[in-house]
Amino acid sequence: MGSVEDFAGQVAIVTGGGTGLGKSIALELGSRGASVVIASRNEEHLIAAAKDIEAKGAEVLTVSCDVREAQQVEELVKKTINSFGKVDVLVNNAAGNFIVPAEKLTPNGWNAVVGIVLNGSWYCSSMAGQEMIKQGSGCILNIIATYAWTGAPGVVHSASAKAGVLAMTRTLAAEWGRYGIRVNALAPGVMATSGASKNLMFDSEKAQEMLRAQIPLRRLTTPEEIAKLAAFLCSNEASYITGDVVTADGGRWLADKGFLELYDLQAAGR
Ligand code: NAP
Repeated sequence: MGSVEDFAGQVAIVTGGGTGLGKSIALELGSRGASVVIASRNEEHLIAAAKDIEAKGAEVLTVSCDVREAQQVEELVKKTINSFGKVDVLVNNAAGNFIVPAEKLTPNGWNAVVGIVLNGSWYCSSMAGQEMIKQGSGCILNIIATYAWTGAPGVVHSASAKAGVLAMTRTLAAEWGRYGIRVNALAPGVMATSGASKNLMFDSEKAQEMLRAQIPLRRLTTPEEIAKLAAFLCSNEASYITGDVVTADGGRWLADKGFLELYDLQAAGR
């Protein structure tokens, strides 16, 4: 997928680009020729990631930015334009999440997650989108999760926000196609990134074993594997794909756990 320098001359903003999937996407785009802007709250994350991305030969700008704050996002886009003159790719990857029963979720907890995922994706899309409209080209990729449409226990804040981002994806694709802007969503499967495995309680081998049993491909995915798909969706090879959601979860959301176990039991007896 993709030639080595297929992002040469392009400028990409990756939110949450200092850790986990965001870092892998920034590395993938950088190693394929893009200048990369990584933005999140914690400068330590950004500085460490920038070193790794620069080692791939890419130009990197780190911007301290809380995507919940519209003014900070405005600054992020301004700094990108000042440094690189344009923005070709925006990856809305930043997120926060924690497991909580819906009846125990406080307004603060709700606002924290919805603020990052839904508001943050909107502020970034809106402000980078205005630059893309001026340019007459651009690509926005929103990282969501399959529970945006399946729902899942313990994540009403995140599922609601990701569903909103999916609606945003389709709506902006319909509105901004005329400006040469593509907008897509990518729903990765389970990746044992340090943030997710701690917050979503799958940091033990036992939990991961249970998860693997629910996945038809029988393995978790990795940020590196998903980053290649993200880069494809942002590349010219996906030039006619817009308003779509691409799922890379090893078939997990299709596989009803009860039926999968029953099927495995029957298959074992065959
Ligand atoms: P992660 O390493 O915890 O990534 C989250 C990133 O978001 C961090 O770099 C964090 O950086 C940044 N962030 C958090 N709050 C922010 C804010 N207010 N403003 C700016 N940046 C902020 O987790 P991950 O697993 O790589 O997740 C990446 C994406 O994949 C997320 O959208 C997640 O929902 C999605 N996803 C993950 C999985 C999975 O199993 N891991 C499955 C499906 C979907 P700072 O702390 O420096 O701010």
